[in-house]
Amino acid sequence: MKLYNSATRRIEDFVPLVAGKVSMYCCGPTVYNYAHIGNFRAYLFEDVLRRTLAQIGFAVTHVMNVTDVGHLSGDGDDGEDKMEKGAREQGKTVWDIARFFTEAFFSDSKRLNILRPGTVAHATEHIPQMIRLIERLQDRGMTYQAGGNVYFDTSRFPAYGKMALLDRQEAPAVSRVDLDAGKKNPRDFVLWFTSSKFGGQTMVWDSPWGRGYPGWHIECSAMSIHHLGERFDIHCGGIDHIPVHHTNEIAQSEGALGHSWVNYWLHNEFLLTGKDKMSKSSGDFLTIQLLSDKGYDPLDYRYFCFGAHYRSALSFSWEALDGARNARRNLTDKVAEWKAMGSLSAVSAASQHHIDNWLAALANDLASPSALASLWALVKDPKVSPGEKLSCLYRMDEVLGLGLADFEAPSSPVVPDEVLRLATERTEVRRAKNFARSDEIRDELKAKGWTVVDTPSGPRLNKL
Ligand code: AMP
Ligand code: ZN
Repeated sequence: MKLYNSATRRIEDFVPLVAGKVSMYCCGPTVYNYAHIGNFRAYLFEDVLRRTLAQIGFAVTHVMNVTDVGHLSGDGDDGEDKMEKGAREQGKTVWDIARFFTEAFFSDSKRLNILRPGTVAHATEHIPQMIRLIERLQDRGMTYQAGGNVYFDTSRFPAYGKMALLDRQEAPAVSRVDLDAGKKNPRDFVLWFTSSKFGGQTMVWDSPWGRGYPGWHIECSAMSIHHLGERFDIHCGGIDHIPVHHTNEIAQSEGALGHSWVNYWLHNEFLLTGKDKMSKSSGDFLTIQLLSDKGYDPLDYRYFCFGAHYRSALSFSWEALDGARNARRNLTDKVAEWKAMGSLSAVSAASQHHIDNWLAALANDLASPSALASLWALVKDPKVSPGEKLSCLYRMDEVLGLGLADFEAPSSPVVPDEVLRLATERTEVRRAKNFARSDEIRDELKAKGWTVVDTPSGPRLNKL
């Protein structure tokens, strides 16, 4: 297995700390809003990584955190508490907000066939571990207190910012109003807050420094060390985490432990809308439910993401998603046709090379576009029998996760534009609770020879 390591900026052979085992930590969602499809690009990449490692034969321990304690809207201690803001806007408690969006996150993940991490670590359940880690840093003289908060002193960690090639003295991009007067160095960051300029925090805990709440970065250090140990193999996240979050995680963890911590840092590139990364704070983002409301299967998006390498930026467009939907339907149509023809056949030399190419592509830093090319080479190979193709596809689907083995019915027939338009209108009027119009549309659809059924993954059109 070869992986690109952000820490060394090279593709490296993957050598785990313990033969045959992989320990992997992924930064999870902050549950104050729905995760958008850009976030899910990160979780899909991590899912393929985990499934590929398992396919190669490693036993994978996969840990992901859920940030259910408020973290500030800027990565560098600036901005407002995201959870408190969400709660205020929606007239709920922060605990309600966290519970609701955690459930929404796992329900969307399931629709995308993302395997649930073996351990899901909630920040609110690991406050003692965070406090202990801050105490370790304090014992090593790497913290200071100012204005009621505890800060990490970056001047005490000479390797600060090595992965991101940062200059410790250079000020991070924080607006003047957000500058924190307590910091000795602009890159120092808060480990424990007892005072915030946004008062009235409801999620607070007792600590040796007073009642308060942890900084965001300390969460991931404390929880990953708690669940995976003081050294582990892989840490993942999106590239936006390199300059602040992961840089600070490394400083705190290595600062407290006194030795190196994570061997491989893997980062996915962004999903873009236009020229910019899709982001929650901009408000301009798409959710899995929205794709489903527009008649897409969440797995169309899964397929769409595999069409680009995880380290390349990927531009979202409806046309490109249509392309992925068509490709996935072509595949599921073939699978349906071959399933109808009868039994599976054993993999022979005629098809083994397709499997080998597919796995070699994935083992080469998760080259998913090449892996898909191997899949289509198999599908189109006239020398391989349908039964054998199915056996190979099921194997490939252990990583691809398109549910091919469970897939029963032939995929839906081509839906005329007018029918699609009516179905979309029906979804919209139902949301506006205009059931009279919704019933009218149902009749119009019937007259055109279509029925619409509401399923957990959205409305489904069937030919009468
Ligand atoms: P957040 O909830 O903002 O911490 O983001 C969750 C995960 O999604 C992190 O690994 C981010 O780096 C990643 N992420 C955020 N925005 C995007 C995007 N537009 N494209 C791909 N990954 C993203
Ligand atoms: Zn993290």
